[in-house]
Amino acid sequence: MKAVTFQGVQNIQVERVDDPSILDPADAILRITTAAICGSDLHLYHGQIPGMLPGMVIGHEYVGVVEEVGAQVRAFRPGDRVVGTFHVGCGTCLSCRRGDFHQCQSGGVLGYGMAFGNLNGTQAEYARIPYADYSLRKVPDGLTDEQALFSGDILTTAYGAVMNSGLKPGETVAVIGCGPVGMMAIQSAFALGAARVIAIDLMRERTEMAAAVGAIPVWSAHVNPVSRINELTHGEGVDVAIEAVGGSATIRLAFDLVRGGGRISAIGVTSEETFEFPLVTSLAKDITFRVGVANIHRDIDTTLALVQSGRIDPTVVVSHRLPLDQAAEGYRLFASREASKVLFTVD
Ligand code: NAD
Ligand code: ZN
Ligand code: ZN
Repeated sequence: MKAVTFQGVQNIQVERVDDPSILDPADAILRITTAAICGSDLHLYHGQIPGMLPGMVIGHEYVGVVEEVGAQVRAFRPGDRVVGTFHVGCGTCLSCRRGDFHQCQSGGVLGYGMAFGNLNGTQAEYARIPYADYSLRKVPDGLTDEQALFSGDILTTAYGAVMNSGLKPGETVAVIGCGPVGMMAIQSAFALGAARVIAIDLMRERTEMAAAVGAIPVWSAHVNPVSRINELTHGEGVDVAIEAVGGSATIRLAFDLVRGGGRISAIGVTSEETFEFPLVTSLAKDITFRVGVANIHRDIDTTLALVQSGRIDPTVVVSHRLPLDQAAEGYRLFASREASKVLFTVD
């Protein structure tokens, strides 16, 4: 089959590799129909993820049709149209039984290298999905691939980050970073009752995209976001800040944007192990700081329902639809931010 492979820093190639096969009775094999490049794939593209070996098949945002199931799979059969989670969990370890699928002791992230379970990715004609009964959901009636796709990753990641902030109806939210994840956080915040969402990005076009879904745009290359948010909140600061970039600079910004008693929920991926924690500010302002990777299994059914009801339209971020053969160009476009979201149509 054809698959998108990592060959080295900023070196992506489409290669012919062996078709996947059932390795465990809980596996399913999917024929992928639509796959996306996630912002997390950019960290891998730039060589920031340890354990990536040349030739590994990458990608973890996907919709497909079940081709074959292992003997233990109960919830799916060949022909089912499904969307799947970007990380997989066994469903039976203590973490999974607590509902913490993102902490599964034998789980991993599809297409993310040796450090994340050594699982092949889904930017390919076929993919093996471990623990299929837990990882997959049938695409709800009436939804297109593109509408369902992001519930497996960016939409549910962002929704989960907003849930983790403890947002209450009527509150004001700042979203730092209006990439695809930030765009999903804005819509999730509105769906969960935010009165106002203030959207911050260094790129003007990204803030305009945020304004189109109802956010107040703050182009932070042009205006100081702290001053602007103070103006918009009568000097108080926002109730909630969602960090959707990754790294210490934007986390630090979040501490400066929230009001006394405010909450920060950070979802951006970083390779920085530590950062200078603003202890005095946090102490004085009584700030709650929450950071963590997404637990897609927890919220995927909710986000699919919100998309099906029309409350969230995740497709607003899609700028490019390319055949798999043009993967290298797709990565170049997304990494340079010429594209806001790249999809590969596989069939
Ligand atoms: P992206 O790279 O496309 O978007 C990032 C956005 O942030 C861009 O619009 C960029 O202009 C903006 N930005 C960069 N620096 C900024 C700054 N200093 N101030 C304001 N804006 C700035 O990525 P994405 O797909 O939107 O993903 C965002 C982050 O979320 C990534 O780090 C990604 O890895 C992460 N992510 C995390 C999870 C998880 O489970 N935790 C899942 C999916 C994605
Ligand atoms: Zn991802
Ligand atoms: Zn588990």
